[in-house]
Amino acid sequence: MIRKRSLSILLAASLSLGAITASAAPVAPAGNQNSEQAFDNKIVKRIKVENIYNHIAELSKNPRVAGTQGEKDAVDYIKSQFESYGYETELQPFTISSYTEPSLKELSIDGNELETNTFTYGVNGEVTSKLVDVGFGAPSDFEGKDVKGKIALIQRGGFSFAEKILNAENAGASAVIIYNNADGVINGTLGEPNDDYVPAVAITQEQGLALKARLDSGETVTATLKIEGAKSEMATSHNVVATKKATQKSTNQLILVGAHHDSVDGAPGANDDASGTATVLELARVFANSPTDTDIRFVTFGAEENGLLGSYEYISKMTQEDYDRTVGMFQMDMVGSKDAGELIMYTNAGEKNIVTDLGAAAGARLANTGEAIPYGEGGRSDHVPFAEVGIPAALFIHAPVEPWYHTPEDTLDKISLDKLEEVSKIVGAAVYQVARPDTPALTKAKVAPKEVDYVFEDRELE
Ligand SMILES: [Zn+2]
Repeated sequence: MIRKRSLSILLAASLSLGAITASAAPVAPAGNQNSEQAFDNKIVKRIKVENIYNHIAELSKNPRVAGTQGEKDAVDYIKSQFESYGYETELQPFTISSYTEPSLKELSIDGNELETNTFTYGVNGEVTSKLVDVGFGAPSDFEGKDVKGKIALIQRGGFSFAEKILNAENAGASAVIIYNNADGVINGTLGEPNDDYVPAVAITQEQGLALKARLDSGETVTATLKIEGAKSEMATSHNVVATKKATQKSTNQLILVGAHHDSVDGAPGANDDASGTATVLELARVFANSPTDTDIRFVTFGAEENGLLGSYEYISKMTQEDYDRTVGMFQMDMVGSKDAGELIMYTNAGEKNIVTDLGAAAGARLANTGEAIPYGEGGRSDHVPFAEVGIPAALFIHAPVEPWYHTPEDTLDKISLDKLEEVSKIVGAAVYQVARPDTPALTKAKVAPKEVDYVFEDRELE
């Protein structure tokens, strides 16, 4: 386990940035303003948005599901690009459990078909038997109930789907039907494969309560449940890591710039998240020959869609030294959709931090309007594991997300060059604000501030 960073260091860092944070935008008076822009231009003028677009075109040719050949092809492409820019590139392989959705899932009650859903990592099987209502499916709920060879009807809530199914199996049930405890369908996961699972399907609250009422009235209800084609297997996913070492007197500090290269099943993932991955590549190309006094590490994570597994893996492999010297993590996820909302910086706990300060300041400088990007509270991407261990991190994303999110329609034709340009320049300028040789280590910043306020926005991701 990595030791938690002492509050005093964090405080020192944020306090020193106070000069910047309080003003949120280190935009210096006129003379300085020009020098600020001159510095920004060292990076932003060299960004070629068509390069980002072409990377997206390449990466979104096929879905990149973690652990599959589609992801491995993307990993090889990303590695070859980093190496073509002169980076020593490291692959971090890690084992995941990957899941193939069933090709067939059926549920009929007394011969009548019901709409149904299955659970990720659920197992195949065909069972026809009587239904037994067992409440929430806690071990005590099975006491005095004969479920041997029968189908357990279970309500959602209280504990995980996996526990409910294992409790039913333990009591001798041959299958499980779980009904929702709210409107809508259940899109659930069991978290990981397990040979002890019995076949299980999910139905709506309305369907479940109707069945429960029939059972409560003493009626016998027979169900047939059939699942085919599901497959859980262990597979290997990868993180791709390329580090640019400081070229001049090093502050020994490290900044992370990340995105995830995997996509969900069936989705080309042009925006989620080939757009972020492509922007990481272009920033790596631009920074490759830039003078810096801070190490910059470009990382594309695998298996983000499986539960941020790549970024948790990265954290688990992080050395204490790297942990202590990492001053910020910039995550870009879904940064190029024509049909999404405006740019926002989400932090895990909805607080401002060094990364949002730098992002807002760069946004204000580049936008020339003095308008800063808002920040908000949001998880659901690879910035979360970093925030959880106390590393300042923020997610750059356009929200609310587009209707094509996680669908086969997440395609290249829906990508906006303007949005790619906006995010790549803001993140590039924000990172260079720290990494450029003339700005000393973050703790001793002396840049004259200009008041730019950036605000919290309670904006939903979807
Ligand atoms: Zn994503």
